[in-house]
Amino acid sequence: MNDPVDARRRRLLGGLAASPLAAGVTGCGRRTGPEITDVGQIDRTIVDRVLRPASERDIARALADTRLPVSIGGGRYSMGGQTACPDSLHLDMRDLRRLVRFDAADRRIRVQAGMRWRELQSLIDPHDLSVAIMQSYSNFTVGGSVSVNCHGRYVGKGALVNSLRALRLVTGEGEALELSRDAQPALFAAVAGGYGGLGVITEVELDLDRNDRIAREAEFVPLEIYPDWFRRRVLDSGDAVLHNADLSPPRFDQPLAITWRRSDAALTRTERLVPEDLDYAREQNLIWAASELPFGDSVRKKTLTRSQLHDRPVVRRNLEASLDADALEPRTRRMSTYLLQEYFVPERHFAAFARRLQRILAAHDANVLNVSIRHASADRDTLLAWARQNVFSFVLYHKQRNTRSADRAATVWTRQLIDAVLACEGRYYLPYRPHATREQFLQAYPEAEAFAALKARIDPHGRFRNALWDRYLPR
Ligand SMILES: Cc1cc2nc3c(=O)[nH]c(=O)nc-3n(C[C@H](O)[C@H](O)[C@H](O)COP(=O)(O)OP(=O)(O)OC[C@H]3O[C@@H](n4cnc5c(N)ncnc54)[C@H](O)[C@@H]3O)c2cc1C
Repeated sequence: MNDPVDARRRRLLGGLAASPLAAGVTGCGRRTGPEITDVGQIDRTIVDRVLRPASERDIARALADTRLPVSIGGGRYSMGGQTACPDSLHLDMRDLRRLVRFDAADRRIRVQAGMRWRELQSLIDPHDLSVAIMQSYSNFTVGGSVSVNCHGRYVGKGALVNSLRALRLVTGEGEALELSRDAQPALFAAVAGGYGGLGVITEVELDLDRNDRIAREAEFVPLEIYPDWFRRRVLDSGDAVLHNADLSPPRFDQPLAITWRRSDAALTRTERLVPEDLDYAREQNLIWAASELPFGDSVRKKTLTRSQLHDRPVVRRNLEASLDADALEPRTRRMSTYLLQEYFVPERHFAAFARRLQRILAAHDANVLNVSIRHASADRDTLLAWARQNVFSFVLYHKQRNTRSADRAATVWTRQLIDAVLACEGRYYLPYRPHATREQFLQAYPEAEAFAALKARIDPHGRFRNALWDRYLPR
């Protein structure tokens, strides 16, 4: 294995010397017009125009008024052009964010798709209710989350579709359809996790959960026994609400298992939700130090790991569910960008994949800040499910210079990781960089053929486009 301290030093010097390249700009020959980018800020796409619809009628009218391709953006936290298509009409959904219906007694809510989780939490928190399934951060739109069929740290809950009751979809012809497990189930199953390829989601109806009081505990667990340990101590425990296990550099071999359990203990923090405009300079500086300085790993151990092992916070679930992704943001993306990847591995292949991951990251000297392990139950609902059976997921958070050569280097090790997960009968997650080859995509998602057939029926003129479907949709 390469010496991690030397590797950090090399990267720091390399980064200072390299001149940041302009990110790749895509547009069919035209170089003027609004530019769409995403949180990773690697791809920039020139579109024809941007519309911020405030109602479903605005969307239907816009679709009737143009024959341009249509791309759809929510929070734009996907990282590989999933929200953009050159010369398209771009629908920026963030103004479509009203509450449609809320039944606290029945624990159910219906909202417009551009609403962010954090706004939804403000509506339900006074009723002591929580979002049942969502990501680890609260910045994403509900429609963008349904479109990737996200998941979080919720024990035994799996993908978002498990809390999805119904949705409304506007098709390319401007027709609004109500979809659920009873109403057009095949289309419902394809739109959830369908990355905006079939139409515009305008409303989403979700089950909610209780805003329990939860207490955190953390311990190191040997890698080889982690799956058994997880089943006994977390999945079957009856009181675990949130769980993940962190693997830290340089060796990624010792899971720090972090579990939040229901608790009656006194709250150590009484805030109900994370405020929206906090300053995260300290957190951002710590991540910079951990990822850039030669002794970054000891910075991490002294701060984050120590506090996770020794502090015992007791909070309301909504506080932990309303974390702000700004805490992870770099101070600037001029030199480097922070990116995510995720691999889903059937339970029985956990250790084999973990070993391959360690080898590939070490061989390529990848600047991975953290690998977070989670568990998800099988998804029997969606067409493009990322979990056909119960899986452990490995979420990589890595840092990359803003140069073409750095993106090419990441492509090499990412393809190796995809080969590794395919060899373990697993899949990789689609909202991130589109480094996979077409063959890898089709091997991971053979149901894409059925998705393409359905798209040909629902969207016969292929109006809904983005970089993901332009690159991978079977023709
Ligand atoms: C810091 C960070 C942490 C993350 N953590 C997690 C995590 O814990 N779990 C997880 O599963 N994922 C996670 N993700 C990935 C995240 O869930 C996805 O990127 C998700 O799509 C973000 O929602 P968004 O509103 O930004 O969607 P966008 O990125 O805007 O859109 C994603 C896709 O959905 C489509 N879309 C958006 N809105 C609509 C709509 N109304 N109708 C039809 N199509 C639409 C877009 O066209 C695009 O294809 C994380 C990402 C980041 C950057």
